[in-house]
Amino acid sequence: MNIKSKIIDLRSDTVTKPCRQMYLALKDATCGDAFLDNDVSTRNLEERCADLFGYEDAMFAVSGTMCNQLAIKASTNPGDEIITDFSYHINYFESSGISSLTGVHINPIHTLDGLITIDILQKLLIDRNKSRFSTYPKMLCLENTINYHSGKIFPLKELKRVSDFAKENGLLVHLDGARIFNAIVEDNIPINSFSSIADSMMVSFSKGLGAPFGSILLGKNNFIQETRRYNKWYGGGMHQSGLMAECALYAINNNLYRIKSDNNNAKLLTTLLLQDQISGIKLLKNETNIVMLDLKEVNISAKVFANILQGQGILLYPWSEYIIRAVTHKDVNENDIRSAAKKILVSISHKK
Ligand SMILES: *Cc1c(COP(=O)(O)O)cnc(C)c1O
Repeated sequence: MNIKSKIIDLRSDTVTKPCRQMYLALKDATCGDAFLDNDVSTRNLEERCADLFGYEDAMFAVSGTMCNQLAIKASTNPGDEIITDFSYHINYFESSGISSLTGVHINPIHTLDGLITIDILQKLLIDRNKSRFSTYPKMLCLENTINYHSGKIFPLKELKRVSDFAKENGLLVHLDGARIFNAIVEDNIPINSFSSIADSMMVSFSKGLGAPFGSILLGKNNFIQETRRYNKWYGGGMHQSGLMAECALYAINNNLYRIKSDNNNAKLLTTLLLQDQISGIKLLKNETNIVMLDLKEVNISAKVFANILQGQGILLYPWSEYIIRAVTHKDVNENDIRSAAKKILVSISHKK
């Protein structure tokens, strides 16, 4: 029998395909025009998310990037300063968008692990030359889980501590929670814990939850009204968005708690790769569903290695010159992980 072997796609958790039941859920979409009719499916999703996360209101938007951009646009004026870590998506991937669309100055902190502490923030806010002509720090942007640091969880207590300090010093706080559910299921965090921490928050439906696209932006009523206006400016206003809203609702209702198995599969991959002492791979610490491999010691570039593995049906994402990323999600199972680990180790030993 010639069974074509499965491609194991570990480039990102955005690559998941809708399951049959998710397609069936589309049938229930109201298909009103979200702009003209205040579409019911879309509004249901927004109210469900606001309720779930404990915020006043919510807006369904096309992407996580759009939500971050809108949150910054609605919270700042040109010439203001936002504080974030250099490793966060907002700085690492979105700084061009932010500087051109909003005209704020990003002040990136260089932490070793992505955890911004009060000490760091204090130095940045207070211990610096400030005149009334300087930039005004306006917002602190945090991230949880931290993509760049192998899905590291920003511990809830520390998140609260640094956010309280930021607020005491007049900053707004935005939380990029693209993968917040990976932290929630790992640490058993009540879903509404973040509303007392962040003034605004973004959560993705297209990552671990497995919907085709879309993210939710959460915040106060007047903030969400503002972001709806800018969303239209930026061309993000959708019409029959109910179709995607039903997919997102399906994902929240059915895929949320299974995200724990993604975290477990990433741990399994880490364990399997580390078992082989001779491989020389260095693993950057893994906490949730992201595994970063450092290939510098084995002297293989991430791009070359990704090509080699692609030839064997394993897709990985070259993150930087020597670091390659594997992300687990609902469309890869334990057997896939075992098979991927084996192929990764064999390829490294051939290369040495
Ligand atoms: C994926 C991601 C985003 C952006 O989401 P898109 O829907 O791809 O625009 C933002 N922040 C983090 C931490 C992410 O992982």
